[in-house]
Amino acid sequence: MIKSSHISMRGLATMPWIQLFASPACNLKCDYCSQQSVRRHKVTHDFLQDPELLEFICRIPPTHIYLSGGEPLIHPGTKEFISLAGRRGHKISIDTNLMISGKKIEELISSWDPDWIGIVNVSHHLICGITLEDIESRIRPLKEADIKHFVKYIGVPEHFPLIERYMNVLKDRGTGAAVTVMQGNWKGRTIPEEYSLDETITLLDLVTLNTHGLQLFDGIHSRGMSCRGGQDFIAYNMHDDRKIISCCHGSSYPLNMNDIYFETGTRNCLECRIDQCMADMVFICGINGITDEIERFDKLCNGNFKFQGVESVIHFAEEIIDKGYRLVNNSKFLAVRKHVSNSCHSVTASGFKISYDEEISHIHSPKEINHTAEDRVRDGKTEEAKSLLHNLIRKYPENSTALNNLGVVYLQEGDMDNAIKYFEEALEFDPDNGYALVNFAAAMASCGNFDTAAALCKKYQQTNTTNDEAAGLLSIIEEIQILHAKGKNIA
Ligand code: SF4
Ligand code: SF4
Repeated sequence: MIKSSHISMRGLATMPWIQLFASPACNLKCDYCSQQSVRRHKVTHDFLQDPELLEFICRIPPTHIYLSGGEPLIHPGTKEFISLAGRRGHKISIDTNLMISGKKIEELISSWDPDWIGIVNVSHHLICGITLEDIESRIRPLKEADIKHFVKYIGVPEHFPLIERYMNVLKDRGTGAAVTVMQGNWKGRTIPEEYSLDETITLLDLVTLNTHGLQLFDGIHSRGMSCRGGQDFIAYNMHDDRKIISCCHGSSYPLNMNDIYFETGTRNCLECRIDQCMADMVFICGINGITDEIERFDKLCNGNFKFQGVESVIHFAEEIIDKGYRLVNNSKFLAVRKHVSNSCHSVTASGFKISYDEEISHIHSPKEINHTAEDRVRDGKTEEAKSLLHNLIRKYPENSTALNNLGVVYLQEGDMDNAIKYFEEALEFDPDNGYALVNFAAAMASCGNFDTAAALCKKYQQTNTTNDEAAGLLSIIEEIQILHAKGKNIA
């Protein structure tokens, strides 16, 4: 059941974002806590009651405020802060373990207008012995108040079977669930870098957002990339020292408050000064323009999700690589891809997920898939055609028809680099592929490389004497070559 929602994730993503780390104080003691070095068990600083912060919140334009910690719900003033911010037109999201008493949760929720709340991200810390019943009893009031929420698991290798079971239970009960990597030292290993191949694939099969899968490859190289995280998605009071940083990855790069969106009103992206971005909310919501899983995330927060599966994550990563970005741990990515293609991996949950997967599930042969992709192109559904063809060449990398078709789609889109790449690959596996020769010639001519284009047309004519298309193209190319030659002579 899709519940009514007060604000869509897309609506949230268009707002400026500020993440408030109220304090690292927490009521739990997870062994894998990334805040371990600064974590406290006593709330010593009443950040959410700070007059300066409250004044700031009252004067900035409507903003998405993401409250995290430590555990934000144990901090003094949370209830009043949310009420003040909500009345000022802000949307507040909360990253919580929800391990406060059921009575306190009900009291908090009854003091909020559900319209003020963005999402509640409930971390289920199995490592602290918290049961599914504990979590479900505490999210019940969120459901009753129609507040978007989801349950998030940390990918501790020993917990994978339990995580899968619990995610399935939550799915059956209409609660969204996600799993992300664990980060840090774990039993002598540095995770996520040192997940084994088996662990990596198991976890990739469990992710419900492809973006979380990217974390298994340590994210992407981000230095120099334009990112709104550097301008209007800031994190404030990181580690309780009043530092303002560009995003939750940027703790070693404090920002000057006077230069950022909240003071200047400018929403230009800034160049990322951080080496690697771990592909979290900023990516999911497409805020930096690299990826966008926002519709999927929206559904997940409304209790409607699918396991993406390793093949989907591979496809997703390939699209990012096609856009020119580099995965930090590309060798791991290649190892996973090779393993999956060699083992005809069957996805544990619900298979390779693309929005039209049910529609094409009956298509089996490469020929049928190529025909379907051609139909999609004719219908103007080029994204679907590309997905079909990428999927096909992952299984049959030497299928020159699919490679040529993919080249044609990119050619039509004006993406000459990719068009040329796929025509070259098609000809590498089938040097006499007439379609690929003529299309490649057209691509080279469009790039002004007339000599190569003419050579390709002539090569085509050696084996195909009856085709007028190559002859026509060749005569155009030769005319252009003559004009160019004349131009040069005149000059
Ligand atoms: S609940 Fe979160 S902040 Fe608290 S100890 Fe666990 S991981 Fe750390
Ligand atoms: S680390 Fe990621 S979110 Fe942060 S500024 Fe860089 S690209 Fe943006």
